[in-house]
Amino acid sequence: MKQEIRRAEKLNTLGELAASIAHEVRNPLTVVKGFLQLMHKDDKGKNHPFISLILSELARAEAIINDYLNFAKPEFKKVEQVNLGDLLHDVQLLLTPLATKNGVHLESYLEKNVWMETDKSQLKQAFVNIVKNAIEATPQDGRVHLNLFFNESGIHIIIKDTGKGMTKDQISRIGTLFYTTKDKGTGLGTTVSLRIIDSMNGKVDYSSEPNKGTEVKISFPSVRQEGRVAAH
Ligand code: ADP
Ligand code: MG
Repeated sequence: MKQEIRRAEKLNTLGELAASIAHEVRNPLTVVKGFLQLMHKDDKGKNHPFISLILSELARAEAIINDYLNFAKPEFKKVEQVNLGDLLHDVQLLLTPLATKNGVHLESYLEKNVWMETDKSQLKQAFVNIVKNAIEATPQDGRVHLNLFFNESGIHIIIKDTGKGMTKDQISRIGTLFYTTKDKGTGLGTTVSLRIIDSMNGKVDYSSEPNKGTEVKISFPSVRQEGRVAAH
């Protein structure tokens, strides 16, 4: 037990350090990106064919930095009544360009009037990371489906993909800090999501079959409030 506490503390310090570096590095990167975009506009690919390559690598650096920043700021800033259907619809809209780029159909069936009292941006981040993984794991013409519903046992969100799936061993490693099977992955996304959902009393369950797909079930305990369903 003592060991575990110490490890968590260490992780926190490391996380804070990573975040402060990420934060400091982001500012000069933004400046560099701004000037490169100007050059790109003037040049129109004539003299500097590498500029678009540099810009896309900069975008990658930014994405990595954002992962680290998300990792290190788990505190809930603003707690409010959140409509989960609307929130998941936002997540779908946000990730539609990625799905389109990968040729993946991103669909949803979301029940209305399901509410949760929580930090909206944290919860959104938790869903974005999981849905993003589903899209990234799915080959062209595959499907990612988001489902929100409630019943006596609580509020449920199911994210199902027809992607490459995972072996038992891979499932057992998911959520471990820095675990990634991607060339350009950070292995931070699921760790962040699981931590956020756990802090909201939620449960996450992965089931998967290699070459078939993956299903992520997220559940929150619910209470009924004047004709609507809510969780807290
Ligand atoms: P990253 O996306 O940077 O690799 P994550 O923590 O988001 O890091 O995910 C860790 C790993 O879990 C991924 O690299 C991938 O191997 C696996 N994974 C997560 N979600 C899925 C999924 N829906 N289908 C298949 N593999 C997945
Ligand atoms: Mg990820």
